[in-house]
Amino acid sequence: MLLEVEDLVVSFPTPDGLVEAVRGISFSVDSGQTLGIVGESGSGKSVAVQTTVGLTVGARVSGRALLEGKNLLSMSPAELRAVRGATIGMIFQDPMSSLHPYYRVGWQIMEMIRTHQQIDKSAARARVVELLGLVGIPRPEERVDDYPHQFSGGMRQRAMIAMALALNPALLVADEPTTALDVTVQAQIMELIRHLQEELGISVILITHDLGIIADMAHEVMIMYAGKVMESAGTRDIYYSPHHPYTAGLLNSLPQSGQEGQRLPSIAGQPPSLINPPSGCPFHPRCAFTMPKCRTASPPLGLVDTSIHRSACWLPAELTGSSAETDARRHAASAAQGGSVPSAVEGNPIPDPGKDET
Ligand code: SF4
Repeated sequence: MLLEVEDLVVSFPTPDGLVEAVRGISFSVDSGQTLGIVGESGSGKSVAVQTTVGLTVGARVSGRALLEGKNLLSMSPAELRAVRGATIGMIFQDPMSSLHPYYRVGWQIMEMIRTHQQIDKSAARARVVELLGLVGIPRPEERVDDYPHQFSGGMRQRAMIAMALALNPALLVADEPTTALDVTVQAQIMELIRHLQEELGISVILITHDLGIIADMAHEVMIMYAGKVMESAGTRDIYYSPHHPYTAGLLNSLPQSGQEGQRLPSIAGQPPSLINPPSGCPFHPRCAFTMPKCRTASPPLGLVDTSIHRSACWLPAELTGSSAETDARRHAASAAQGGSVPSAVEGNPIPDPGKDET
C-alpha cells in the first residue's frame, strides 16, 4: 500500500469555537490506483488530504498517515518539504493563482526541480521542456519562456501538472483540478491526468464535488460528508449500487440527458456547521429516511456487499441502488423503525429521478 491514513482527526480553533473539519476517517491508496474523494464544499475532503502533507498550519491533528511506511503526521516541516514535490505532487484548484505572474512559467518549474535536485540550469531547462511537451503544451521549447499571462487557463493547469510531475512522484494529488476551467478544457485536463496515470503508473487522489467527473477515472470512490466517510466502494458499486442516501442523492443530482425543461434535482437542506455538527448520523437533518436512532447514534462504516463496499447508514445492507423502487423500500424500512421525514426535507423531498417535475 502506498498511502494508508488511519483515524485522521483534524480541527481548527476559531473565535467561534472548534471547527471539527475531519472526524476520524481512514482510507488508503494502492500503487497505480486512483482514489476519488467526493463531497460538497466543507465536507472535509481537501482538509483531510492537505493535512497529510502538512498544509493545514494551525490545525489540531491526530491519527496516522503512512506513506511507504513512514508517518507523515510526525515528520518535521523540513522532512515534509522533501516529501512534497518529490514523492507527492499536488495540483490545486486555481491555475490562475498557482503560478507567480512575475516569473516565466519554465523558470518556476525549474526552480522546483533545482530545489530538490542538484542539477545545472541547462539540464533543468531540458527537463522542463520535456515535461511541457508531456502535458501537451505546443512548441514547448518556445513556450518555456512565456509568462503565465501568455498561457490560457487550460495551459496554466497543464503547466501546474508538469510541475507536479517534475520529480516523478509516486502519488499525484489533484484537488478540484478543473473547477476554474470551462467544460471543454475540464474534459481535456481530466483526460490528461488519466493518460499520465496510466502511462507513468502513478497513484492519484482526485478530490472533487462532482461524481460525474471521476466516473471513468477512479478505481475506488470515497464519499465524505460533515468530516466523515459516508460510503466507500469500487467505482462501479458507487454508481450502480449506492447504499447511503447521501450518495444516492448526489447521483440523482447529476444532470441527465433528456431533462430539458425540468428542475435539476438537489439534496434538500444545507451541509451542517462543523462547529456544532448534528448528533447521530450527520446526514439525518437532510435524509428522507431518518429513523429515531439516526438522531442519537452515529452509524459505523459497515460492510455492505463486497469486501470494500462500506456505508455509514443504519438502513439494511441489502438496500442498494438509486432507483425510485429502492427509495420506496428505504421508506418502508425507515417507517418500520418509526422513521419520519425531517423538516429540512419536507416540502423539498429527494426527487424521484423518473418523475416529470415540470
Ligand atoms: Fe443517516 Fe439514518 Fe439517513 Fe442512514 S437512514 S443516512 S443513518 S439519517
